Amino acid sequence: MLNIDLHSHSTVSDGLLSPEELVQRAASRGVEALALTDHDDVGGLSRAKRAAIQSGIGVINGVEISVSWCSLTVHIVGLRIDPEYPPLLRGLEIIRSSRAVRAQGIAAELEKSGIRGSLAGASRHAGNPNLIGRAHFARFLVELGIAKDVKSVFEKFLKRGKPGYVEHHWVTLAEAVTWIRNSGGVAVLAHPGRYAISAEQMRRLLSEFKELGGAALEVVTGGHTPEQYRIFARYSRQFELHASVGSDFHGPGESHRDVGQLPELPNGCQPVWELWPDSLAGTSASRHG
Ligand code: AMP
Ligand code: MN
Ligand code: MN
Ligand code: MN
Repeated sequence: MLNIDLHSHSTVSDGLLSPEELVQRAASRGVEALALTDHDDVGGLSRAKRAAIQSGIGVINGVEISVSWCSLTVHIVGLRIDPEYPPLLRGLEIIRSSRAVRAQGIAAELEKSGIRGSLAGASRHAGNPNLIGRAHFARFLVELGIAKDVKSVFEKFLKRGKPGYVEHHWVTLAEAVTWIRNSGGVAVLAHPGRYAISAEQMRRLLSEFKELGGAALEVVTGGHTPEQYRIFARYSRQFELHASVGSDFHGPGESHRDVGQLPELPNGCQPVWELWPDSLAGTSASRHG
């Protein structure tokens, strides 16, 4: 079976490896097709593609867009997007500048807990000065010795309800899905098991997503348990959504799963890459295109 990983991050967002290092790592672990899906930025794609020519793997153009839906943050992965499509680029730019404003807010909140200089500290950890996220704050707080690892920083400071959390309005589900689709890509609802919502709300989210033209659900992803693979495989069949597979790898030691180290989709799922007319997830075409 095809070793495919459709969700990963580089230093262009909050990953720890450069696009080149990420591609190298994926290749050395036997990945045949990798989607680089940085948060709210497509700046790593040309670098990843260039690196892929040397390592011989396919790189799929991706992005992970931050969305607000009913007072919840959800992530929509776009696959096979056109990284030069102007409305998508403008939309992502708006999100990145709103991230900068939120970062000031996070720093102000952390200051109230006695943590000084976190904006400068987080910025030092950001590989892309235009994209600052909570993971960068988390790494700075670990560096300060305030918590033992990134996960504990989220638990103590950065999750909703914790002292460094700042409510934020991202873009709408309709905007994200529309930008992805109009740029020629397919929209995937990322890591559905992570959203703290009732089954009824999940059904509402899935039907709205489907209605807007969403194409797939991430069934197998780093943060899901085997039980969740089964639950979301069922949802994907019920809502006639294709199924995606992605590690959501951020870096060695920070992620549930390494690149390409994922089980196969449960039986009965329609793999998202079957939507693509060309073989091997269309990567050979996109690699040279
Ligand atoms: P942001 O988009 O800036 O709000 O940050 C979201 C990112 O923070 C996710 O993509 C993960 O990389 C990271 N993250 C969120 N929750 C956790 C957690 N509980 N433990 C570790 N990392 C997390
Ligand atoms: Mn992330
Ligand atoms: Mn995500
Ligand atoms: Mn991700």
